Amino acid sequence: MTVSGPAVVAAEHVVTPDGVLSPGWLRLEGGRIAALGEGAPPEAADRRGPAYQGHWALPGFIDMHVHGGGGGSFTEGDQAGARRAAAFHRAHGTTRMLASLVTAPAGALERRTAMLADLADEGVIDGIHLEGPFLSAVRCGAQDPRHLIAPDVALFGRLRAAARGWLRMITIAPELPGALDVIRAAAASGVIAAAGHTDASAEVTAEAVAAGVSHATHLFNGMRPLGHREPGPAGALLDRQVSCEVVADGTHLHDVTIRLVARAAGPGNLVLITDAMAAAGMSDGTYRLGDLAVTVAAGVARLAGTGAIAGSTATMDQVARHAVTSVGLPAPDAAAAASTTPARRLGLAAQTGALASGLSADVVLLDEDFRLTTVIARGAVVPA
Ligand SMILES: [Zn+2]
Repeated sequence: MTVSGPAVVAAEHVVTPDGVLSPGWLRLEGGRIAALGEGAPPEAADRRGPAYQGHWALPGFIDMHVHGGGGGSFTEGDQAGARRAAAFHRAHGTTRMLASLVTAPAGALERRTAMLADLADEGVIDGIHLEGPFLSAVRCGAQDPRHLIAPDVALFGRLRAAARGWLRMITIAPELPGALDVIRAAAASGVIAAAGHTDASAEVTAEAVAAGVSHATHLFNGMRPLGHREPGPAGALLDRQVSCEVVADGTHLHDVTIRLVARAAGPGNLVLITDAMAAAGMSDGTYRLGDLAVTVAAGVARLAGTGAIAGSTATMDQVARHAVTSVGLPAPDAAAAASTTPARRLGLAAQTGALASGLSADVVLLDEDFRLTTVIARGAVVPA
């Protein structure tokens, strides 16, 4: 990737793993963060510097769960559409992302996985998330129930082979017969086993964590609700302190729920995701998610027919802003949930996920209202 962009970024608040530098500065060199510090920069900030007065500098967002955006999609359509989706989200601050697939026939999943692996080789995406096909029919949400498949280690192996090392996560319903074997196979091969679209009891979920589940796919959405006598998957996943995705778009979860998750999940376990589909950034209308038709009205995507919420139309800058300005998370906690924790989970912590010397110059700048103004990816400013 070309390296062009500001050499020095000065901002009112620079959020680092060791605290907020107010004001602070970052020196970017060769696509990396060469140095950073508190106070005025030791050399003149580049001419864009003044625009960042009052701004927050955060590490570039990392979205572990996104299906599409800007009219393009990872789940259906051609490679050009997948590139469009990645570019759309990059312009909204997502400097790294997993491309999420939805349940589809095995052959179609293998083909799409191989296509996305090509894009990962190029650095367009940073890996693949299989959301399915081993999911619960009663909690399948916007997943196509016709294509759900019983957990099958051999099929998991074929999909993993098609991904050529880029399969990073698989969402699975642990209560299905054979699920624990797939969970063990995933964990043993370095693929994050995530519980989601599940009707499991708390007990079964706890067994799944013991077998290797280490992540919750959009906690509370697409799973048996938390009851005080049967805490279900949500209760067990919080109790076992796995990393927990939340769609903080103001639609999928009440803000109180997000605050409770932020506390209960424990430090370093909250993960902000978009779960966005192709309609993100587009006007209301009819779109597709896999083989299913989705109607978007007032920005809320619902499955045509059942009315189930079908992914979101959110972007990472929107969910980060919602998490700070509406949920009330402190900015460093939002930065951890939107970047540092997903980087750690994806094995990218030595490359990105924080504003620290030596890491990739992946930086987002947000104004005093926490609105995104500038995205820098690997040292280059991303065109808006
Ligand atoms: Zn999803």
